[in-house]
Amino acid sequence: MTTERRIPVGTLTGKTALVTGASRGIGRAIALRLAAEGALVAVHYGSNEAAAKETIDLIAGAGGRAFPVRAELGVPGDVATVWSGFDAGLHALDVEPGLDILVNNAAIARSEALDGVTPAEFDALFAVNVKAPLFLVQQGLDRIRDNGRIINIGSGVTRIAYPETIAYSMSKGALDTFSLTLAKALGPRNITVNSVSPGIVDTDVNAGWLRDNPDAWTHAAAYSTFNRVGQPADIADVVAFVASSDARWISGQNIDATGGSHL
Ligand code: NAP
Repeated sequence: MTTERRIPVGTLTGKTALVTGASRGIGRAIALRLAAEGALVAVHYGSNEAAAKETIDLIAGAGGRAFPVRAELGVPGDVATVWSGFDAGLHALDVEPGLDILVNNAAIARSEALDGVTPAEFDALFAVNVKAPLFLVQQGLDRIRDNGRIINIGSGVTRIAYPETIAYSMSKGALDTFSLTLAKALGPRNITVNSVSPGIVDTDVNAGWLRDNPDAWTHAAAYSTFNRVGQPADIADVVAFVASSDARWISGQNIDATGGSHL
């Protein structure tokens, strides 16, 4: 059986996607799902090369196609490094330049309450969670094809006040405003821009307080009307819909994917 014949045929066949922070957690689940729909996926990561390779191996094992893009975000030249890695990856695979789906997923999640947040932490959060997505789009706009998709991963903390992570919450609020504003700017090209906002999801970022702590797990599950903690695939499935042509009439929206938290 040839490699070509094993490539999944789905709603995204022939599309190219770039998912930032796709080495682990929600980003990995998004990369797997988009690849399962037939997209060629650029798996961006910051430093965890082994995890990125695992994502790519999982995609390849399922018959999909993916390649890695390494770039630390939040440092000078970050966006240029992403795009040069992306371009080089497509070139190496002899794939036509261009991008159909950009998922801005990578983010720093740690943040303190008001009395603990520092200027340095604030700057780091905004550099990765807000500045990088904006300039990734600005510098990548000539690569993003008409009828494309830009999906920003927000957070339920923009709807549900969570003072424990005040600066992080603010950064996600800014990202939502980016989605709204950019949606209007890119409408004439039929590019949709939306936020997808998870609630508490079982990923590494929550490992310390959530996993192996039954009380915390029960508490976190109770946020959702379904009384369970979110899994990365719960978010990836929503992203796959927003990325599909079925979602062509949705733009500038914040799509709540919190499992009905705090209704
Ligand atoms: P995660 O498990 O901590 O994974 C983070 C990913 O982002 C990794 O691939 C990491 O790369 C990459 N990354 C982080 N900082 C980076 C940087 N400075 N430069 C480049 N790459 C960087 O995160 P997650 O929990 O899946 O969260 C994914 C998204 O969902 C984020 O936008 C987060 O805010 C949002 N979200 C998560 C939850 C939740 O409960 N988990 C809830 C609401 C919203 P490396 O592997 O190389 O480190």
